[in-house]
Amino acid sequence: MFRCEICGLVFDQPTVKERSEPRPDCFRERFKEVLCPICGHPYFNEVEESEDDDEDIDGEHEP
Ligand SMILES: [Zn+2]
Repeated sequence: MFRCEICGLVFDQPTVKERSEPRPDCFRERFKEVLCPICGHPYFNEVEESEDDDEDIDGEHEP
């Protein structure tokens, strides 16, 4: 899952926007943008899902 640095939203899937721009030499360049579903900024980090599972329970250490 991911956490947005701008609005702080935690989400599983970012919004993927595909766009293509026409090029002079007859081909289209395609871009893929992954954006926050709420604020639309691409600034987010992947975060570990913290559930109450037994595995990886001592993997996290908060100072
Ligand atoms: Zn956001």
